Amino acid sequence: MKLHVGILGATGAVGQKFIRLLQDHPWFEISFLAASNRSAGRPYGEAANWIESIPLPAKIASMIVQDCTPVADLDLVFSGLDASVAGDVEMAFAQAGIPVVSNAKNHRMDPSVPLLIPEVNPNHLALIERQKFSEGGFIVTNPNCASVGLTLALKPIHDAFGVEAVSVTTLQALSGAGYPGVASLDALANVIPFIGGEEDKLATEPLKILAPLETGSTPEVSTLQFPISAQCTRVPVLQGHLECVSVKLSSPADSEAVRKVLESFEAPAEIRRLPSSPERCLQVLDEPDAPQTRRHVGAGDGMTVSIGRVRPCEVLDVKFVVLSHNTVRGAAGGAILNAELLAAKGLLHHRAATLAAQGS
Ligand code: NAP
Repeated sequence: MKLHVGILGATGAVGQKFIRLLQDHPWFEISFLAASNRSAGRPYGEAANWIESIPLPAKIASMIVQDCTPVADLDLVFSGLDASVAGDVEMAFAQAGIPVVSNAKNHRMDPSVPLLIPEVNPNHLALIERQKFSEGGFIVTNPNCASVGLTLALKPIHDAFGVEAVSVTTLQALSGAGYPGVASLDALANVIPFIGGEEDKLATEPLKILAPLETGSTPEVSTLQFPISAQCTRVPVLQGHLECVSVKLSSPADSEAVRKVLESFEAPAEIRRLPSSPERCLQVLDEPDAPQTRRHVGAGDGMTVSIGRVRPCEVLDVKFVVLSHNTVRGAAGGAILNAELLAAKGLLHHRAATLAAQGS
């Protein structure tokens, strides 16, 4: 028995990645696909311009795309909705009693909504208690596709030495802009030094994710306060966001000590047992020219964040390069890992608890 899951925004770049990653998932089975009125009422195979490199599964191709109205008999919906509509639609599903695991920005910084990376802040799930929706509905979000790699890299450094300031310059893939995304005449043989709204997300999201959970009468997360200066660029690669990061530490440490804490970082055991958890969530590469987007973006089936070139920084204390897969770790794969954690913790409907108890 698998959980019945839906995908909102199923026709987009992230929606398609959900479909691909959920094929043969041990706990989740796709039973509902929804998108805009342009797609609703049509078979998925006609409505979507399939861009994944595996053939579109026949069962999915024949499913009729629905509009984004809540339906009964769903244990969970994943959202890959455009931000222009995600806020209200996700709220409507949560209010109808359906847990929502979202990729969109709309609810990420809401104090009652977990902004979750299971390896970093699984205890932030306690914030769900503050959401007062009926019959088990709630919203959980995953970070922006560039924030996730940066935050995973900062976690062991912050735990060991404290972080006082960060400067980050990103080189982000075209697929981060969705489909059809950036016009080819703008993208080819070019670098665009602007991605709307992205720098604000990089400057704020890690501060919420890395903050401790305060467990008083009401669970709370007060965001950390160190500055993050971000410059985001769009580069002509398909998948993978590369980030050049410099960090000022609170207590002195040399770059070898920083390299060691990055290399030895492991997710908690309960996270490593989840089906989509990679063997290592962080890998440190010691070749002088690594990580490289094309060579390393698929590490851990896209769920492993690669770090290289850990060395002293002449301005701050230490600098390094981070690479993460934007539509897997930074979107659909990260959201599926979030949903697996919800299921393992018994936070989905009763069928999830049964599955987790079976240890499947
Ligand atoms: P996308 O390719 O443009 O897909 C957008 C999806 O939203 C499509 O399924 C589209 O359906 C649907 N949609 C648009 N307007 C709608 C409306 N009025 N009502 C209902 N559905 C509507 O974008 P994407 O790259 O997949 O991104 C989806 C979300 O994930 C965004 O919020 C984005 O910021 C976030 N995200 C993206 C990435 C990434 O790497 N791409 C990473 C992290 C987070 P139709 O096909 O019917 O128009």
